[in-house]
Amino acid sequence: MAQQESGIVTSAPRSNKTMRSKIASDEINLLIPGGVNSPFRSFHEVGGHTIFFEKAKGAKLTDIDGNEYIDYLGAWGPAILGHAPDSVVKACNAAVESGAVFGAPNLLELDMARMVQKHFPSIQQIRFVNSGTEAVMSAVRLARGHTGRELLVMFDGAYHGHSDSVLASTSHQSSSGIPKESSNKTIMTPYNNLELLESTLSKHDGQVAAVLIEPVCGSMGVVLPTVQFINGVRILCDKYNILLIFDEVLTGLRVAQGGAQALFNVQPDLTTFGKALGGGMPIGAYGGKQEIMSSLMPIGDVYQAGTFSGNPVTMAGGVEVLKLLDNKDVYDTLETRTAQLFNGIEEYVDKRALPIQLQRAGSMFSIIFNDKPVWNFEDSKTIDAERFAKFFHIILDAGINFPPSAVDAACVSAAHTEEEISDTVAIINTALGQVFQ
Ligand SMILES: *Cc1c(COP(=O)(O)O)cnc(C)c1O
Repeated sequence: MAQQESGIVTSAPRSNKTMRSKIASDEINLLIPGGVNSPFRSFHEVGGHTIFFEKAKGAKLTDIDGNEYIDYLGAWGPAILGHAPDSVVKACNAAVESGAVFGAPNLLELDMARMVQKHFPSIQQIRFVNSGTEAVMSAVRLARGHTGRELLVMFDGAYHGHSDSVLASTSHQSSSGIPKESSNKTIMTPYNNLELLESTLSKHDGQVAAVLIEPVCGSMGVVLPTVQFINGVRILCDKYNILLIFDEVLTGLRVAQGGAQALFNVQPDLTTFGKALGGGMPIGAYGGKQEIMSSLMPIGDVYQAGTFSGNPVTMAGGVEVLKLLDNKDVYDTLETRTAQLFNGIEEYVDKRALPIQLQRAGSMFSIIFNDKPVWNFEDSKTIDAERFAKFFHIILDAGINFPPSAVDAACVSAAHTEEEISDTVAIINTALGQVFQ
């Protein structure tokens, strides 16, 4: 019956096509602030009501009205193999059957730690937590505790989750409710600018615990570091005896199997993970040099804990994903598909000289509505959010799901087929034609 109804609904114009989402959206707004449990999901930037999904499999999403979408949100990063890969579902189900949480060690934690270490030689020891936010929050505390210093240096436009220390006035997201004593300890500097980083570090010589960096930025458009910059950051941290933390919550596994640190061949002291690492289960992790990790309780005096940390369901999902990623074809497919997508759009954009920048690292990408490339937060301020909003709704209506934001990274998965990509190219190019006509 549901199928029949959705069949009728699908052929109607968009306002009716997503009627159930519209109704659910009105109702949820009364109960959950802004209708979302994470503000990124809101459509406040692009307008209209959110879409409620009921199924995600491979590269496809199905909404509660029965409409299908080819997905490039990738759940904001986790769906690197597409949604609900069979063997991951099976492994997680088996873990649930055996008891979802013990509050004591399980062997999957050991498997998982070994598998991460295999691809990330900088990780001598690791702790698993439940989100990227928790991973960054814990890594920053560890860096402060280990060095006995309080200042944290990070970059304008960066996103590192929602703990107090990393929500600064020029970060991707700022917030009220953060004590001055906390925000005063965070110093912001522009991305891709070594001179200003060095002057910050020398000005606060002996006081900076860590430099926290996204080795590829995902929240001001996908912005890559120059080779000189990412190497220079490492050199400056060594020169001033400061810990370097790579936030690889999005880039780990995504830009290369060994993360951005393998891609750029730069080794951080600490790394944070999340998103794709858990096979769709809630996860975060942080790790690095044993000497630093030994400052954690119960060995050292830096406290961090968690009832659900390292739980068997998440570990089972993670182990299975890491196994699947060991298949060399996965990264070849990710590269081939993303290149196909970009080549198809680039050809159209170049022919018409549209003010569009195509920026990507591996399978994380952005179609940036700006007339020049974006290298830092300042550059990203001229991104045309209004035009993006029009584009977003045209492609959504045509069955393409994107992040509802002009600056956030989109993702290709290994489940996207050649045909799905060529359909996507056609829809995107038509939409670009419409918004720039
Ligand atoms: C998503 C993200 C986070 C936060 O992770 P959550 O799991 O959403 O808390 C932190 N850092 C980066 C780089 C991210 O992309």
